[in-house]
Amino acid sequence: MSGARTAEMVIGGVDKGLMFGGKVLEAAGGSTFGVENPATGEVLCEVADATPADAMAALDAAVAAQRSWAATPPRERAEILRRTYELLMARIDEIALLITLEMGKSLAESRSEVIYSAEFFRWFGEEAVRINGSWKINEAGTGRILVTHQPVGTALLITPWNVPLAMPARKVAAAAAAGCTMIVKPAPQTPLTMLMLASLLAEAGLPPGVLNVIPTTSASAATRPLMEDRRLRKISFTGSTEVGRILLRQAAQNVMRTSMELGGNAPFIVCADADLDAAVEGAMVAKMRNIGEACIAANRFYVHAGVAEEFTERLTARMSRLRVGNGTDPGTDVGPLIDAAQRDKVAMLVGDAVDRGARIRTGGAVPGGAGYFYPPTVLRDVARDSRIVKEEIFGPVAAVQTFTTDDEAIHAANDTEFGLVGYLFTRDIERAIRLSERLESGMVGLNRGYISDPSAPFGGIKQSGTGREGGDTGIDEYLDTKYIAVNVAGP
Ligand code: NAP
Repeated sequence: MSGARTAEMVIGGVDKGLMFGGKVLEAAGGSTFGVENPATGEVLCEVADATPADAMAALDAAVAAQRSWAATPPRERAEILRRTYELLMARIDEIALLITLEMGKSLAESRSEVIYSAEFFRWFGEEAVRINGSWKINEAGTGRILVTHQPVGTALLITPWNVPLAMPARKVAAAAAAGCTMIVKPAPQTPLTMLMLASLLAEAGLPPGVLNVIPTTSASAATRPLMEDRRLRKISFTGSTEVGRILLRQAAQNVMRTSMELGGNAPFIVCADADLDAAVEGAMVAKMRNIGEACIAANRFYVHAGVAEEFTERLTARMSRLRVGNGTDPGTDVGPLIDAAQRDKVAMLVGDAVDRGARIRTGGAVPGGAGYFYPPTVLRDVARDSRIVKEEIFGPVAAVQTFTTDDEAIHAANDTEFGLVGYLFTRDIERAIRLSERLESGMVGLNRGYISDPSAPFGGIKQSGTGREGGDTGIDEYLDTKYIAVNVAGP
């Protein structure tokens, strides 16, 4: 393709330093870490490795910029976000390639991620100019109640590796729209995409100090002093429930505002009356999007006994046709998992399920060679006490169980500490509403496997987290409500 940028050009074009106060800097002491391509195991490049002192310098920069950014007219903030949307879309091929190189998914999936992420900048740009308040006469008629919303202040945003552009985009766009300054700590496996996003925001006009990026291999040591500093007013975290708990405990010290997007264990229920074509299509999306490395990935399939064999057969046929390979190769459907630890965990969960009686319908064996590949796998007759039923798989494995009554399906679906999303396939409208309401999750995919939408409130209940990203309420995570009592004697 003429004019196409090569991997070397794309990697070469990314600033690989720490970014704060509008500058690209080396880490204190000059240390760096390597970013690996999970399809080959090769190191793509070195990135500055922030120390706790660097993190504090980033906090200083963010705090220094807070007042003027909060005072920046909403229309100006909105225009910067809108320009960021345009820059992301204009450079979609190059950014998609960068995502694929450091995270592994296919180029087609990376392009979808860029579009999804760009939409958050457009959406929150539109929200920035619609931060409302209210004004009313108090009950006794002796005064007026003025309610306004103000930016929370400086926020720490910590993100995982699985969706390296969209996870920070959901936070950065909302925080910037609200008037908050921020420090972003990306995952060490995928810092390059975040660094590229930061330079696009600067190009779009984001003032120095509003966004500061600290890639680091010492997450806990680097962020702890920030969490202990009273100038930090907000933590927004996307990652595992285990780390979320640690951060919630730290946030309690200064009673900090928190948003937690944590782990999931999504049930996927197929009722006897479901449209099986739609259910299989939905299963492919809910299971295989992002190579199964998604918090909203279908983790447990509950299929009515009357249709279980047909569903499994059709799903197996579709899964076994997927092409596994390097995400940069045209024609690849399924890229590698992020690293050896993740691949070994998936293999262990499949092994445990098989030991407890599950039958492998396709896949199930780690291939040889370089990279961290695992094949699309379907398991049938999975025992309820298998680890794969209780733990997040984060890989391309569909674990199928059966049920006979709605009560049994709902009871099994809700039998988890997680509550992010549930998927439900039925043609009966009453059953659809009844079961959707009974599912203990923040989101339900009703007769569809794709639920991500910048204009919808994304988030979980139970131990899947608190707060929502996107939608009408997404900006509220970065706003404080202030009530001003006004004394007005008489009518
Ligand atoms: P993770 O181990 O919790 O790490 C997430 C981020 O937190 C990384 O940047 C990590 O850096 C950092 N971190 C780890 N320990 C920390 C500490 N003590 N203090 C400060 N930061 C710390 O999760 P992951 O394995 O990267 O991502 C997978 C998890 O994310 C899954 O559970 C998935 O369900 C969840 N997730 C949830 C959503 C959602 O919206 N609900 C979306 C995507 C992913 P290091 O890697 O350097 O430790």
